[in-house]
This record gives sequence, structure tokens and C-alpha cells, in this order.
Amino acid sequence: MKSLPYFCRGEVIRGFGRGSKELGIPTANFPDSVVDNLPADIGTGIYYGWACVDNGDVYKMVMSIGWNPYYKNTKKSMETHVIHTFKEDFYGEILSVVMVGYIRPERSYNSLEALIAAINNDIEEAKAQLEVPEHLKLRDDNFFTSAPSPSSALPPTSASTSQTIMNGH
Ligand code: ADP
Ligand code: MG
Repeated sequence: MKSLPYFCRGEVIRGFGRGSKELGIPTANFPDSVVDNLPADIGTGIYYGWACVDNGDVYKMVMSIGWNPYYKNTKKSMETHVIHTFKEDFYGEILSVVMVGYIRPERSYNSLEALIAAINNDIEEAKAQLEVPEHLKLRDDNFFTSAPSPSSALPPTSASTSQTIMNGH
């Protein structure tokens, strides 16, 4: 995938409420402005990379890009599970991510246990892949230290411009 690594950031919005948190795997959702800017070659599936909330520490993450049932599966959704235990939810805060690599395509599972097992495998795969020196160095990218405060977040109208700047930094 030629667009990887791919940098983006946006406000954490409420998701479809499919109860990811009850599975022990909460996923922070990006708004449409971020999803709509994804390059065409970044398709659905599971990705790994780095993430940070507002100006916090940078953690490993796994991200699912899928079809959003709310829009009758015509629109993509991007859901990030940050591999860290947070004390509180962070709705409304700015999530910055770099998608580093692709793990696998989306698929459906026959049981909740099978789904959870698959996600836990993805998390292990992400943890290992991100230790590769080439991937590890992205954790220290300027992109994360230049995270804007929520009040200076770019309005949606300039999102495509900011996207270009972010990936050309
Ligand atoms: P929703 O359907 O609103 O996305 P989830 O059950 O997927 O609900 O929970 C996601 C929310 O949980 C995130 O928006 C964030 O505020 C919070 N959260 C807490 N810990 C994490 C984490 N480690 N990774 C992602 N989100 C987390
Ligand atoms: Mg979610």
C-alpha cells in the first residue's frame, strides 16, 4: 500500500454503540471528515500503528476500517483501539494516528469468542510489528509533538488541505 505510513488526526466521536467496550476492546471513532480523506488504496481491513490522545504519550494501536452500518454500509468507518488502559473516556479529544501497516482483511465470525480471539491476535501482531526499527521510529515523529489543542483543531472545510500537509511533513 503506497499510502502507508498514513498520518491523520481528528476529534473522537461517539460510535455506533456496538459495545466494543463491553468486549474489553473499546474503539475510538473518527468523524467523516477524516474517513472521507483516506487515500483510495487504503481499503477495509485491520491495520497497526501509533496513536496519541491530545498531547499525551504515544501508544501502539490497532485500527479497523470497515463499512458503517449506520450509512447502510456505503460509508467507511475508522475505529482505533489504543493499546493502553486509560483512566477515562476521551470523547471530544483529538486522536492523532499514524497507520503503519496492514494486518488482514475484515471478516465475520461465528461467535463472540472467535471475534475476541482474532482481535487479541491482531493486538499481538501489532505489538510485534511495531518493534521493527523502521516502524518504531515513527513513534517519535514530529507529527505527534505538533498535535494541536482541541480549540485550535482545523475546521472540516480545511481538512483536505491539512491532510496534504500532514503527509508531506
Ligand atoms: P463507541 O461506539 O462510542 O465508539 P466504544 O465502546 O467503542 O464506544 O468505546 C469507545 C470509547 O472508549 C472511545 O471513544 C474512548 O473515549 C474510550 N476509550 C477508553 N479507552 C480506550 C482505548 N484504549 N482505545 C480506544 N478508546 C478508548
Ligand atoms: Mg467504538
